[in-house]
Amino acid sequence: MHKIYPLTLSNYQHASWQTQMTELITDVEVLFELLAFDEATKNAWQAHFPKRFMLRVPHAFVAKMAKNDINDPLLRQILPTYQERLMVTGFLEDPLAEKTHNPLKGVLHKYKNRVLITVTGACAVHCRYCFRQHFDYNANLPTTADVEAIIDYINAHAEIDEVLLSGGDPLNVSNRRLLSLLKILDERLPKVRTIRLHTRLPVVLPARIDEKILAGIKRLNKRMVMVIHTNHANELDQDTIKACRALQSAGVVLLNQTVLLKGVNDSVEALQALSHALFDAGVLPYYLHVLDKVAGAAHFDVPMPVAVALHWQLRERVSGYLLPQLVQELPNRAFKTPVDLYQTSFS
Ligand SMILES: *Cc1c(COP(=O)(O)O)cnc(C)c1O
Repeated sequence: MHKIYPLTLSNYQHASWQTQMTELITDVEVLFELLAFDEATKNAWQAHFPKRFMLRVPHAFVAKMAKNDINDPLLRQILPTYQERLMVTGFLEDPLAEKTHNPLKGVLHKYKNRVLITVTGACAVHCRYCFRQHFDYNANLPTTADVEAIIDYINAHAEIDEVLLSGGDPLNVSNRRLLSLLKILDERLPKVRTIRLHTRLPVVLPARIDEKILAGIKRLNKRMVMVIHTNHANELDQDTIKACRALQSAGVVLLNQTVLLKGVNDSVEALQALSHALFDAGVLPYYLHVLDKVAGAAHFDVPMPVAVALHWQLRERVSGYLLPQLVQELPNRAFKTPVDLYQTSFS
């Protein structure tokens, strides 16, 4: 494929996913240019150029945003703002105390029957509310030797029946690396029934779902589940729907998780539209997460009683199978905790 440079919102679809991945937008000026922002709106944005966890977004995701709209729900998820610098009580760097569930390099074993492997720290998009934005990935990227140790660990824990690949984004690595890891997990873990990938790439860079990865997935003997991460119906455009359909044809069970975010999806209309758009793409809503209290994300927080009320209203508007579970990740709990009326009235 010939090199296309620079990428724009009208030519990126002709570039390979690998090129799209190396030409990510990391400059706010470029982003505002692509979105045709007028001077007044640009000036109203209160600049913040974080040194760590910089702006990072693929053209394919920006293409789904409205032009010249600083309140676009997709833009809000990725645009750094001055609010990130505010120190807010209760918002921590490791809100889930994950460090205490890190038995060996690259492994989080918090829930009994399932382990999570952090395949890579890299991700094509930097979501401003990311709960692992302060995570020490350098200490947690498994090498080939580490993968052997992980295999031994899983086989020594007979209660483990599912392996999750997360990160970062496990689809951020090359097909060669990912498929060789999947093959090892598929062939050498007799007690494991399911391999699950947690990824945002079908949404932010749908071209990532290429023929090679689909062919590799079809060769697996174990069941594969993919949990995509969509927060708003506008994220599910034709390209993402096509990627989802291709994954389903390869035998993948598709689920979605959403984070409830102030200014992005904190209305019953937005949540209802999301459930319907997901179903149109063949994806079932799985979790609606209450925001993890990570430092720098306080401005996205939806108060718990509001979250419960929204979920209750959603229950009235969608079929049972289109209602995600409203959950909260609490440190040291053996499962994701359902959030319900009792919790808010008694705690
Ligand atoms: C969320 C999570 C899982 C998966 O939990 P499910 O409820 O099965 O989706 C596994 N391990 C860790 C560390 C997690 O945070």
